[in-house]
Amino acid sequence: MEVSNVSAEMSSVYGGLEIRKKRENDIVVALAGNPNVGKSTVFNAMTGLRQHTGNWAGKTVSNAQGYAAYGQQGYVMVDIPGCYSLHTHSAEEEAAREFICSGAADVVAVVCDAVCLERNMGLALQIMELTDNVVICVNLMDEAAKKRIRIDLKGLQDRLGVPVIGTSAREGIGIEGLYQAINAAAARQKSDSGEYCCPQGADRAGELCRGLITYEDSGYMTADRKKDKLFTGKLTAVPIMFLLLLGTFWLTIIGANYPSELLRRFFSFLEGKLMGGLVRAGAPALFREMLVYGVYRVVAWIAAVMLPPMAIFFPLFTIMEDSGYLPRVAFNLDKCFRKCNACGKQSLTMCMGFGCNAAGVTGCRIIDSPRERLIAIITNSFVPCNGRFPTLMAIIAMFFIGGEAGIGNSFLSALVLAGFIILGIGMTFFVSWLLSVTMLKGMPSFFALELPPYRRPQIGRIAVRSVCDRTIFVLGRAMAAAAPAGLIIWLMANVRVHDVTVLSYLADALNPLARMMGLDGVILLAFILGMPANEIVVPIIIMAYLSRGTLTDISDYNILKQLLTENGWTWVTAVSTMLFSLFHWPCATTCMTIRKETGSLKWTLAAILIPTLLGVTACMLFCFAANHLHL
Ligand code: GDP
Repeated sequence: MEVSNVSAEMSSVYGGLEIRKKRENDIVVALAGNPNVGKSTVFNAMTGLRQHTGNWAGKTVSNAQGYAAYGQQGYVMVDIPGCYSLHTHSAEEEAAREFICSGAADVVAVVCDAVCLERNMGLALQIMELTDNVVICVNLMDEAAKKRIRIDLKGLQDRLGVPVIGTSAREGIGIEGLYQAINAAAARQKSDSGEYCCPQGADRAGELCRGLITYEDSGYMTADRKKDKLFTGKLTAVPIMFLLLLGTFWLTIIGANYPSELLRRFFSFLEGKLMGGLVRAGAPALFREMLVYGVYRVVAWIAAVMLPPMAIFFPLFTIMEDSGYLPRVAFNLDKCFRKCNACGKQSLTMCMGFGCNAAGVTGCRIIDSPRERLIAIITNSFVPCNGRFPTLMAIIAMFFIGGEAGIGNSFLSALVLAGFIILGIGMTFFVSWLLSVTMLKGMPSFFALELPPYRRPQIGRIAVRSVCDRTIFVLGRAMAAAAPAGLIIWLMANVRVHDVTVLSYLADALNPLARMMGLDGVILLAFILGMPANEIVVPIIIMAYLSRGTLTDISDYNILKQLLTENGWTWVTAVSTMLFSLFHWPCATTCMTIRKETGSLKWTLAAILIPTLLGVTACMLFCFAANHLHL
């Protein structure tokens, strides 16, 4: 145990975690439990925080901390990683055991799933062997009631000799009782705890529960098993995954069109007002143009193009996550990843990458083996994040569909987009395999993936949560990167050396390499300048082609296509640009996250170089084939 005073206040560090008490008599409560039993939900219900909840094993890998109050009493709540046992060696289990053994917690609340209480009791008994001040929180009582499972909580309490409280944390039911039980447990002196009389050893959990659980409907698992047959069946799993992927993209594309247009109009109206205001305030012309045409336009473009698809995509993704479908995706893809000598959990981190590659890279902490974790980190950027979707969608709309909005066209767009995503997934497998037979040799490790019950997602909460936690976060990050980028781009497009703008000069220098890749210097430069946030790639291209010093919003795809074709774009350029968008260096935030997660410059460079070399090669091969086959 490592204990050190951090400040004159009440901070102490236990096993790497700083416990921050507000008052001397605050009670430190550790929330332990199997994965997916609602620990984060209990934590959120008590602290009012929004620790991310997801419906898969291992999503909490580090200890999260929050402050709660009930009456006059304060609590420091620590959400420790979900684990099945304290006796094995996964990252989650070690973090959980280390914290419980550190003695930092006054009370350990073990959260259990009422639907499978017996299975959860194993961990509870192990924890009771380590510490006396335990409270058992039997969560998901509403689910158990729906499945007509009755639990004798009082009987369990008598047998265990520790408080047992039933909760439905999602609805906040039973949380008060939990507070009271925690208070009572904290007040109990260690010596008073002699009444604990449960059989020692986690293998006697079944005996402990005997007679306390009544299954009034013996077929309560039948519906879930039927769904599993469909979602994980040999013949049905892959087509369903594909259809869901397609459906998600289709809804995102079709739903985003109209609000995007409205937002563009709104921002352009605001731009006029902003400019007018600056003129009236007597701001110098150079400052006005830099601020409005440089910074404001880039930021507005990103907000208009990114916000609507994200506000649709993230909730849809969260619905799949919350309903219990994502762990099934991991299950379906596990075999493929294992064939590539990688870890099946990589499918989950890959899915997180669709939202944001930086989040996907952080998520790789759930993979225990360092070798497999590195593979997952390096290949995470092969699936396009939300920042790259707008580029892909715009090109698809212009060159493959014809620019007209409509149900049929948006479906075709979704189909082409899904094709590119599948290419990204295929490349993830290929590079994972390549790494595992070269730089990162080794055998795949095994892991237990619990398939949680299917749960009806709470649409309202999901909408709020995805918009607040994810959309605003990703958008904020993109804008923070885009504002200075907008200024730099504006300067490059306006500063002239021998009557040539710096932007044109650099584009010309990149032209020879870009041509071999089926691109041109402007496109390649746009990707380089777009490193802070990928979504500004298309606006930079437009700006350079128009040889204008400002970002130009061309919302009509037909006019945009005309501009591109006048500058030499063909469908080969379009495909090459999409290929390069899929495979190139990760964005700046992701690179920084990789550096932080791997702690190594070498692996960060590998994560930058591998997709870049792959993208350059793929574009060159495609361009070569297209030219020689006269496509
Ligand atoms: P953790 O992995 O233990 O932290 O579990 P989470 O807090 O992430 O919850 C897993 C899933 O169970 C989420 O979809 C929650 O919305 C859901 N959940 C949590 N508590 C309850 C509850 O009391 N009732 C119901 N019906 N669902 C719950």
